[in-house]
Amino acid sequence: MEHAFSAATRRADLDAATTQAVDLLVIGGGVTGAGIARDAAMRGYSTVLVDAGDFGRGASSRSSRLIHGGLRYLEHGWLRLVFESSRERAILLRIAPHLVRPAPFLFPVHAASRVGRWTLGAGLWLYDALSLFRNVHAHRSLGRTGVRRLEPALRDQDLKGGAVYWDAQCDDARLTLATARSAHRHGARVANYVAVTGLEKASGRVRGAVVEDRVTGERCALHAHVVVNATGPWTDAVRRLDEPSAAPLLRPTKGSHVVVPRQRIGHTEALTLTSPLDGRVMFVLPWGDHSIIGTTDTDITEVLDEPLADAADITYLLRSANAYFPNARLNPDDVVAAWAGYRPLLDVPGTTSTAAVPREHRIVEGASGLITIAGGKLTTYRSMAAEVVDLVARRLRAVDGRSLVRHAATGTEPLPGGEVADLGLLARDLTDEGFDDGLARALVGRYGSEAAAVANLVRREPALGEWIVPGLPVIAADVVHQARREMAMTVADVMIRRTHLYHTHTGQATDAASTVARLLGRELGWSEATAEEQAQAYRDEATRMRRAITPR
Ligand SMILES: Cc1cc2nc3c(=O)[nH]c(=O)nc-3n(C[C@H](O)[C@H](O)[C@H](O)COP(=O)(O)OP(=O)(O)OC[C@H]3O[C@@H](n4cnc5c(N)ncnc54)[C@H](O)[C@@H]3O)c2cc1C
Repeated sequence: MEHAFSAATRRADLDAATTQAVDLLVIGGGVTGAGIARDAAMRGYSTVLVDAGDFGRGASSRSSRLIHGGLRYLEHGWLRLVFESSRERAILLRIAPHLVRPAPFLFPVHAASRVGRWTLGAGLWLYDALSLFRNVHAHRSLGRTGVRRLEPALRDQDLKGGAVYWDAQCDDARLTLATARSAHRHGARVANYVAVTGLEKASGRVRGAVVEDRVTGERCALHAHVVVNATGPWTDAVRRLDEPSAAPLLRPTKGSHVVVPRQRIGHTEALTLTSPLDGRVMFVLPWGDHSIIGTTDTDITEVLDEPLADAADITYLLRSANAYFPNARLNPDDVVAAWAGYRPLLDVPGTTSTAAVPREHRIVEGASGLITIAGGKLTTYRSMAAEVVDLVARRLRAVDGRSLVRHAATGTEPLPGGEVADLGLLARDLTDEGFDDGLARALVGRYGSEAAAVANLVRREPALGEWIVPGLPVIAADVVHQARREMAMTVADVMIRRTHLYHTHTGQATDAASTVARLLGRELGWSEATAEEQAQAYRDEATRMRRAITPR
């Protein structure tokens, strides 16, 4: 059955949420908040989830897109985190096979590498052991020739050997969206573009929030027995709405990535490297015809609404990659797109380097009862959510004596689109029906089993089969589907977080902004003038991101 998740469900959910108090209000629709809402709704608690912008517009769409045990964490002795992350990797591969895909990672070792061959071998044995030897495949050590055979473009000079190990790559923004949609399917009321501007209190206890609808500008109050602050990098700002003098829990750092055409580097595998500039672990990751190079890790003084990668980030990433792929001679003109995000890291006094700040999380309860979850990783969001909802369940029992619901099947029930055994077969079904091969694979990659719903739109209205940009596998039906089933509210929602056209084909996405706005406008009831304003807003955003990385 088709399950709507749209501007209309958003409006209906907001109206219902303002008239009826619920068990739980979750502030923040990044992966953490979406995970909490899903878990709570699955336990049967009445739940509202709001985000000030689009789902995942914060860290959850700006990550390295890895669902990983965290090989580098072994250096810091964070074994518990690696163990938990490895378990979660296995679960996410199962419940969202279209969005989380296993990938082999090559870790080459050169003479001057900070990590030598023996250390790497021992580390990878431990890495496999912490997944109880149930990783997709066990790691494999390679000699110099083995590495060269796998990755001929890699720097040959001083190459000693290396190893291949397994982790997973994911679509972070779509994983977040799928989690929010799953919460909605289980009865949560869910709305994007709704910002919490204040907290409602009764007798010193938090009992809800004042929110602003960023689409209409309206303000209203939402009431709940328990309120959870899951706002990632904005955690401390929301805590200050509760306790103006609260000491910060976080020490966010900024991380940037760049995208370059894959053929400019000439690699096939995902690579784990240590930057020769400062010894930090970094990645060069295949992403379709492109490569993602990341990431930087720098302290910040302020959490901005829209962090941008800058020219210094680009220089660091390109110089680091060039050291491993000297023939590539990457330069800023090769950069197709870039993004930056803030890691919501815990502030642990005494840690000197940003890399040494633990990636673990903390759950804190304020004197007013506001529950805050701080820190964590995309990979571990599901287990973090379960821990938060365990606490919520105890607090709800204290409110009215109801019995504890201890468990939700979040680890076994597939996320929307994840009910699929064989992605290849699904794509072949679409090709048999006449869909272009590349388009069929792209649709299945984006929507999993729900690709059939997009195909249905085309069957009903063949004009929706038209490609938005010639040669790129995104069609008009994508936009319609995203408006009806994925609550796309702006052109940027489509371009940046739901199709990633911005990240791979920035120029073409800019050219297609008016087409997307027209399609979206048809669904959302925009006038022609509004559609053009929306297209221009996206073009302005893309220009701003481009300018920030252009050397002066
Ligand atoms: C550069 C980088 C690389 C990373 N790489 C990886 C990786 O490869 N693997 C991995 O596992 N993890 C990775 N992470 C970490 C991971 O991305 C984050 O831990 C995770 O996405 C945090 O999710 P979150 O929901 O807590 O925060 P966010 O995704 O930032 O969500 C917080 C949300 O709160 C909303 N919000 C804020 N204030 C309000 C308000 N007043 N009212 C309503 N809503 C509000 C925001 O709009 C936002 O959507 C990376 C992070 C970065 C920055």
